[in-house]
Amino acid sequence: MNIVVIGGGWAGCAAAIAAAKQGAKVTLLERTDSLLGTGLVGGIFRNNGRFTATEEMIAMGGGDLFHLTDQNSLHRGIEFPGHPHSSLYNVATMEPLVKRYLLEKGVEIHLSTRIDDVEMKEGKIRSVTGKKGEEKVRFFGDAFIDTTGTAGPPGQCSKYGNGCAMCILRCPTFGGRVSITAKCGVTEMIGRKGAQVGAMSGSCKLFKESLSREIVDTLAKRGVAIIPIPAHIQNEVELSIKACQQYALPEYHDNLIILDSGHAKLMVPFFPLETLRKIPGFENARYEDPYAGGLGNSIRYIGMAPRDDSLKVKDVENLFCAGEKAGLLVGHTEAIVTGTLAGYNAARWGKKENPLILPAALAVGDAISYVRAQMDTEEGLGYKYTFSGSIYFDRMKQKGLYSTDPQKIQKRVDQEGLTGIFS
Ligand SMILES: Cc1cc2nc3c(=O)[nH]c(=O)nc-3n(C[C@H](O)[C@H](O)[C@H](O)COP(=O)(O)OP(=O)(O)OC[C@H]3O[C@@H](n4cnc5c(N)ncnc54)[C@H](O)[C@@H]3O)c2cc1C
Repeated sequence: MNIVVIGGGWAGCAAAIAAAKQGAKVTLLERTDSLLGTGLVGGIFRNNGRFTATEEMIAMGGGDLFHLTDQNSLHRGIEFPGHPHSSLYNVATMEPLVKRYLLEKGVEIHLSTRIDDVEMKEGKIRSVTGKKGEEKVRFFGDAFIDTTGTAGPPGQCSKYGNGCAMCILRCPTFGGRVSITAKCGVTEMIGRKGAQVGAMSGSCKLFKESLSREIVDTLAKRGVAIIPIPAHIQNEVELSIKACQQYALPEYHDNLIILDSGHAKLMVPFFPLETLRKIPGFENARYEDPYAGGLGNSIRYIGMAPRDDSLKVKDVENLFCAGEKAGLLVGHTEAIVTGTLAGYNAARWGKKENPLILPAALAVGDAISYVRAQMDTEEGLGYKYTFSGSIYFDRMKQKGLYSTDPQKIQKRVDQEGLTGIFS
C-alpha cells in the first residue's frame, strides 16, 4: 500500500508516521528544504487543553511527535498570561529531530518538491505531479493526504494582509503553496470575519542577541518576559493589530509578552520596528521571522477542505486531509492529532477497512467533529478553534473534557476501547 503525503508541516509529519506504523509505504513531499512548515517558528504546546489532547494521543499510541517535542523542550510547565502548564520546544533544533525520526520509521522524504497538479481517474487521484528542483516528478499512490496548510502564497498575503512579510515559508524562493484538494476540483472553504478574509498569524520572533541582557536573562530563567508598554507608546501603535483570539486578554494589550522558544517569540502579529525600539530593552531589536515583522505577517485560513470526521475529503475517494487544511484549527498539537488520524485512516482505506471516527467523549474526537459542524455556519467560519483557548477550550471545560491528570485521561481513552489504537 502506497500512501503519498503532500506537505511536510506538523500535520504531514504526523500523517506519515501514523500511516507507516500501519505498514504502509509512505512518501512525504515537501515544497521547501525543511520539514515542519509553520512549526519552524512556533514552539508553544501543552498549554491549556493542549495538555489533554497530547495525553489522549499518547494513550492512544499516537504520541510519537509529542515525545520528541517533550524531549526537545527549553521550558516545561511555565505560565504566561491565560496559558498555564505550557511547554516551549526549541524551534531552532526541532526539525532535524523530526526528520531523523521519520527516516527511522521508513518514510521516504522528498524536499524541495512542489506538487502542482493531480491526475484523477474515476473520482480517485492516481498520481500527483510537480517539480523537484528543476526535475519533473510524479508520484503514484493508493491514498493521498493533503497537508499543504493554508499559509501563503504571497498573493494571498498581499490581497488580504499587508503584503509578503518574508516569513519562514519562503514562497518567493520555493514557489507558493498549492492545494491538492483544490487541484482535484473540490471547492474549498474560506475563513472570514466581517471584511477580513483569512487571518493574520499572531506572533513574530526577534533575535535574542538584539534584546537587553536583562530580558535575555529573564527568558532563560523563566521562559517568559512581560514588559509593560509605556502609555505614550500604546497611543502610537494601533493596538487592534494585537488581537488574536486565544490571546485577546488585557495583559496582551498592555504588555509585550515574550517567550523563549530558542529565539524570542513576541506575541503580536506585527509591531512597527521604530516604535518597538523606543521600548526599554528593545533599542536594538531585530526581527528573525518574519523579516518584515514590523509591517505584517502571513495570512492563513483560506482554502480549507470540506471533509468528514474521518478526515476524508468530500468528493475524492482516496484523499484525506489534516492540520489547517482540515479546518480552522490553530496549532501544532491540532495539526499532529488530525495528521495522526488522517494517516491512520488513509492506511485503513488502503486495507479496505472502515475509517476510525474518534468519539466525542475524547477532546480530540469532539474537536474534529465540532469544528467541522461549525464550519457549516457563517458565524462559525468567523472563529478559529484551538485546544489552547477561546471558544473551543471553553467548550472542553463545559463538557468536562479538560484534564491535566494523565492517569484520568488514560482511563477515559481505555473506556472508549482506544488504548494503543495508533500503535
Ligand atoms: C508565526 C507563527 C507562529 C505560530 N506559533 C505557534 C505556537 O507557538 N504553537 C502552536 O501550537 N501553533 C503555532 N502556530 C500555528 C501552527 O504553526 C499551525 O497551525 C500548524 O503548525 C499548521 O500545521 P500544518 O501542517 O497544517 O500546516 P503548515 O505548517 O502550513 O505546513 C504545510 C506544509 O505544506 C507545504 N506545502 C504547501 N503546498 C505544497 C505543495 N503543493 N507541495 C509540497 N509541499 C507543500 C508547505 O511548504 C508547508 O511546509 C504558529 C503559526 C505561525 C505562522
